[in-house]
Amino acid sequence: MSDFDPEKITFSSGNYINGEYISAPGDSLGVKRPSDGQLYAEIHQADAQTVDAAVTLAEAARIDSGWSTCSPRERGAALFRWADLIDGDSEYLAKLEAVGSTRPITDVINHEVPFTAAAIRFYAECADKYSGDVLPTRKNSLGMLINEPYGVIGAITPWNFPLSMASWKCGPALAAGNAVVLKPSELTPFSTARLAELAVRAGIPAGVLNVVQGSGQTTGNALVTHPLIRKVSFTGSTVTGAAIMSQAALHGTKPVTLELGGKSPQLVFDDAGDIDEVADRIFQGFTANAGQACVSGTRLIVQRGIAAALTEKLIALCQQPQPGMTWQASSRYSPLIDQRQGEKVASIVAASVAQGAEILAGGQRFEHPGDGWFWQPTLLAKVACDNVAVQQEIFGPVLTIQVFDDEHEAIALARHDVFGLCAGVHTLNLPRAMRLINALDAGTVWVNRYRRTHDFIIPTGGFQGSGMGKDLGRQAFEASMRQKSVLIDF
Ligand code: NAD
Repeated sequence: MSDFDPEKITFSSGNYINGEYISAPGDSLGVKRPSDGQLYAEIHQADAQTVDAAVTLAEAARIDSGWSTCSPRERGAALFRWADLIDGDSEYLAKLEAVGSTRPITDVINHEVPFTAAAIRFYAECADKYSGDVLPTRKNSLGMLINEPYGVIGAITPWNFPLSMASWKCGPALAAGNAVVLKPSELTPFSTARLAELAVRAGIPAGVLNVVQGSGQTTGNALVTHPLIRKVSFTGSTVTGAAIMSQAALHGTKPVTLELGGKSPQLVFDDAGDIDEVADRIFQGFTANAGQACVSGTRLIVQRGIAAALTEKLIALCQQPQPGMTWQASSRYSPLIDQRQGEKVASIVAASVAQGAEILAGGQRFEHPGDGWFWQPTLLAKVACDNVAVQQEIFGPVLTIQVFDDEHEAIALARHDVFGLCAGVHTLNLPRAMRLINALDAGTVWVNRYRRTHDFIIPTGGFQGSGMGKDLGRQAFEASMRQKSVLIDF
């Protein structure tokens, strides 16, 4: 992949409903490029009427096309074809993503697009691998548990990984026989709509996967509260997740899956092994996508014996990233999504310093042509547990550093009152790793690594304010179906 000109890419502004782009009568919303802050396109916001059309058509499509009732193997085959088309469309999808999101083109081509296709293949494989259950009941009767799709699932995704987040929602929901109406973030709308176009080309019936565009308040709210939406699957912030849960409770008591924010600790013990490798893991863990990842490992909790040496290595690593437009092949470091996010990062860093934090690296916006916000990798030391940078999800490349002497202290520092998404444990002592796995309040614990793999069998999901339910794994597929109990007397 070489550099490309973002001005030459075309975008479809409409809502992708029933197999075609439809412009909605509501407002238009401008969309800006994160790399340089330029307005480059607009979307037609779907109001309640347009959302109603999308959901009603989705319900009709799943029944009339036989998507919900066809053999699971046929559904799986359609999903395999879809994944192949995604791989085949890699270049265009990657350009849409690189213009409109925070992901540099090389990263999208090498990771995001293959990751998206692979997640859909995982659920294509699941489609015909699940059975219900035969239950041990009285003599002369047969008890069964039958899995069936919910109907239409409303999915809402954030801006930080638009393609893969869409695949995590649509893969299991479609494989289980549901229809989906998906609302991507209004900040990164286009690549998701392209995925839906490719789904129709792959033979998934028109109307089974629809994409509506717009803000959370207007489009998202209309989707969550629509009576034909039987389940909501949401990824985003903890505050929005709580609002969605209460709306879903008021409008049909519908089930929700919530993948929310995090403030994840990385615990490094003196016996963590090769210090360069460990430093690299910690660094990637808080700077990938400029820290705009739910799983970002933004709290370093390090044992005293290794603290100074590790900090020195991290300071050196923080000098390396250089900002670059996301459409340049050499770019590796992401911008923040927009000015609002930039100002949020700046204000939390300033407040943290006002509370006593010492900046060991970064702490500022990079100077860079255009109005993009590239934030320097930032290390904050001398932070107490109540420091704002330890407490709040910053969603920027900012790492706090806290030092401990023993395992108990490490566990106490790792605890967070709100979040419980992920934790990293870096030690070569297996019994210690096992003790930590048991002690940490986190939906995922990584030991001697800090990143996801293509092992989609491993589900992801948070404890406490980081969410409920799982994306990925068999669990996301199972959660896309409702269980019907049957008792037959004979
Ligand atoms: P956000 O909560 O602001 O928005 C997420 C989505 O919800 C967007 O599409 C938005 O338009 C929509 N929305 C907002 N208000 C809504 C409402 N009242 N009703 C319905 N929809 C509404 O989050 P964001 O800023 O887009 O994304 C960043 C957040 O997402 C971070 O907190 C991050 O940790 C979290 N996240 C979590 C995971 C995970 O798997 N746990 C993955 C990625 C991102």
